[in-house]
Amino acid sequence: MNREAMGTGISIIVLALLFFAFGFFTRDSRAASPKELKPVSEEIIAKIEAAAPSSAVVKPIKPRKILVFWLCNGFYHECIPVANKAIEIMGKKTGAYETVFSDDMNMFDAKKLAQFDAILFNNTTQLDFNEPARKQAFMDFVKGGKGIIGLHAASDNFYKWPEAAEMIGGQFIAHPWTGDKVWAIKVYEPNHPLNAPFKGEDFKVKDEIYRQKKFGKEESRRILLTLDMDDPATKEAKGAMESDRDMPVSWIKDYGKGRIFYCGLGHNNEIYYRPAILQHELDGIQFALGDLKVDAAPTVNEKGQK
Ligand SMILES: [Zn+2]
Repeated sequence: MNREAMGTGISIIVLALLFFAFGFFTRDSRAASPKELKPVSEEIIAKIEAAAPSSAVVKPIKPRKILVFWLCNGFYHECIPVANKAIEIMGKKTGAYETVFSDDMNMFDAKKLAQFDAILFNNTTQLDFNEPARKQAFMDFVKGGKGIIGLHAASDNFYKWPEAAEMIGGQFIAHPWTGDKVWAIKVYEPNHPLNAPFKGEDFKVKDEIYRQKKFGKEESRRILLTLDMDDPATKEAKGAMESDRDMPVSWIKDYGKGRIFYCGLGHNNEIYYRPAILQHELDGIQFALGDLKVDAAPTVNEKGQK
């Protein structure tokens, strides 16, 4: 190699290192979320409008307002604008609630949160509540009697805050059931009112299903939907294990004076065009808001264990 070629080679390496360092240092906490959400097409809006419930199971006790939060510090789900639209349409169509959308962490302030009846985490990832005042405002909100709703990646947060992860009731570990294939979902407690939309029938979804970490020895959740490991394709998914049997997909729980509803479905857009799933979500939202009173006592399994 002559001197000129060597010089060029070194310059390329130096430039590459500078480029990498610049990228590293300018990466802020909002790197994963876009600054603005893409508008949802008329075609998709029409599908959601057609699938959304025409009425709510119960009339709200008073006008309800939900903060729909969608900030991603980790993976950004392309379905976020579609899910936001579905939540908005369900509220408008049924009168169950109104919505305010935000990706601003400054919303987690006691005064700002006071106007809301629930917070819905729409596929948020790697949320970081570093500041003690934010943590306090958020915990006071739910423990004081308000609602928390989580869709899909809402359990992919709070890795440095176990108390909040335990409050949601699960935490992402892996997803052997990838979003490009069809998996079986079991209606775990067919007679539970929040499962009424499924009419006792297990179903299949093209979606990504999480293996979730469970918190504590005792079950604290009322489990509504689970992964159906009796389905051969679901059982034989790459990386699936026998211990994934009855992996919870949707649940509710009481927490302090507040209520949690989590639904793990919702990686793909098409989940938001399915009438039964949207009705399940609306009913879960109404539970979290405190309008729909249902049994949220922890599920007791066949062995009599919680
Ligand atoms: Zn996902």
